Amino acid sequence: MADLFEGATGIIDEALAHADVSADTVERLKHPRSALSVSIPVRMDDGSLRTFQGYRVRYNDVRGPAKGGIRYHQDVTLDEVQTLAFWMTIKCAVVDLPYGGGKGGVTVDPKALSMSELERLSRGFIDGIADAIGPDVDVPAPDVYTNAMIMGWMMDQYSIIKRHRVPDVITGKPIALGGSLGRDTATADGGFFVTETLAPKVLDTGGRRTAAVQGFGNAGMVMAELLHAAGYTVVAVSDSQGGVHTEEGLHIPSVAKVKRESRALKGVYCEGSVCEAVDHDVISNDELLALDVDLLVPAALENAITIDTVDDVKARMIVELANGPITPEADAALFERGVVVVPDVLANAGGVTVSYFEWVQNRQGFAWTAEEVRTRLESRMTTEARRLWDFATERDISLRVAAYAQALSRIGEAVDATGHAETFQSAG
Ligand code: NAD
Repeated sequence: MADLFEGATGIIDEALAHADVSADTVERLKHPRSALSVSIPVRMDDGSLRTFQGYRVRYNDVRGPAKGGIRYHQDVTLDEVQTLAFWMTIKCAVVDLPYGGGKGGVTVDPKALSMSELERLSRGFIDGIADAIGPDVDVPAPDVYTNAMIMGWMMDQYSIIKRHRVPDVITGKPIALGGSLGRDTATADGGFFVTETLAPKVLDTGGRRTAAVQGFGNAGMVMAELLHAAGYTVVAVSDSQGGVHTEEGLHIPSVAKVKRESRALKGVYCEGSVCEAVDHDVISNDELLALDVDLLVPAALENAITIDTVDDVKARMIVELANGPITPEADAALFERGVVVVPDVLANAGGVTVSYFEWVQNRQGFAWTAEEVRTRLESRMTTEARRLWDFATERDISLRVAAYAQALSRIGEAVDATGHAETFQSAG
């Protein structure tokens, strides 16, 4: 994880050359505003007491309340949570949300807990961080291995502590508890809108456009479905067990059906209707990343494309639906070669954008229709994608550097609005 942080701060130096920000802003961004570490005692089903470690970092809140998910994973550390909170600060500014950045995590293997233990852990975590969060302070959401049900428990626990209902303290809740329509597909929807905005500028294929999607999970599967429906020929998809490929294009609705039913792509390799309908090859994930396609969508894990594999990548456009799928060295090599990389901080910001919509709806006490959510998401994603494209082409920089520069300028504007060094020098 320390590597990811180095990658992120390295790009900051590059982006600063294209952002008009004061030294005060840079100083403010070097340090998280607060980092809380809590121990969470949990009564286990067998009667024993176990203590788990949890964290909540409010990295920056100059543009608004901090915003960012809570992850449950056995490898969670304060370092990691801090890095991710910094990323959220940038991401929220890239899509111009009135938010800062935050993140939380509990060091736990959630699969080893029973449902009741998981609930007690989630409520205990909120007991621990309740003073550090709030609708105007820091608004959590789901992340790795947390979901709507857990957000529901957390909102309920926070409401118990406050002795009144506070739906806007957390987003990604079940619809019945104030969640937003469209939240479940928001990340892929956002990535798709950005792709639709930028693909005509990058791909002059005159009709047929091919795509490959690595990671057929929440984000990747919906993205593949959207691309298929929009007329892309999706030639390959993969999950942790491998991938399927055919140059004619996969029938994505059928593949998605198998995946939803069996939770694995394995079923489509050699049995069932898809197998019969489409003649396909079984490929590895490395082979998928090396396919000669117009569009490549990494939607699985970080560091999927490294300096060792980047020379094999033949795609002309890469949309980073996953967080950090390309290492900084590989990213530089792709830019050199003219491959357009749509960075994660823009490509997967649809999730946090609809989280913001959920918060707005909760504060209004008025739920929007699914269409309203999607229309507003489309408008924001296309506006920001166009803005970044123009900025990047004007300056001949990558979309990633442009995104960070844009975010830094927006954060800097807010910092400076409260006064910076020169303000105080001239006043003195
Ligand atoms: P998920 O767990 O639903 O899906 C991940 C998929 O990747 C699974 O199908 C898994 O089998 C597959 N996978 C794992 N290892 C792989 C490998 N080596 N090669 C190919 N596939 C592999 O997760 P998700 O929610 O879809 O998230 C995917 C990525 O998108 C993550 O980086 C996540 O941080 C990012 N993201 C997701 C959201 C969201 O709202 N879901 C929002 C922002 C960012």
